[in-house]
Amino acid sequence: MKYCVRCGGEMADTAVVCPRCGAQTVPPVEDKPDTAMNVISFFIPLVGLILFLVYHDRQPRKAKSAGKFALIGVGLAAAVVLVMGAVAGSRLARQQAVDEAWEAAERSRQEAEDAYRQSQELDRAIEDLQRAMEAYNGG
Ligand SMILES: [Zn+2]
Repeated sequence: MKYCVRCGGEMADTAVVCPRCGAQTVPPVEDKPDTAMNVISFFIPLVGLILFLVYHDRQPRKAKSAGKFALIGVGLAAAVVLVMGAVAGSRLARQQAVDEAWEAAERSRQEAEDAYRQSQELDRAIEDLQRAMEAYNGG
């Protein structure tokens, strides 16, 4: 049994029109969170936003649920992007540190070569001086 929304009279559950006053029976709209809608909203938040706007007035519970899952989807996507950005950033920083260490090693190798060349020149100068002193002493 259900009751007429206009006159309150009893009528059969399957009745489309009230037998007393003739008012049409409006089938009650089911307003509850929709799982499929939530899943779609989660993975495609833009669709969730549209669903929220479309159902906002007629089925607020369904709309709010879809909107909530859309927000969760957006939040999760943002978190994933942040984490990936942080990982990529630290990888880049590590690569830069390796590059800098490599350059520093190359610089100190060149400095060592220069110092070696200078010491050889010094050796030659000392030998020249020794030869000159021997020639002086011998002469
Ligand atoms: Zn009625």
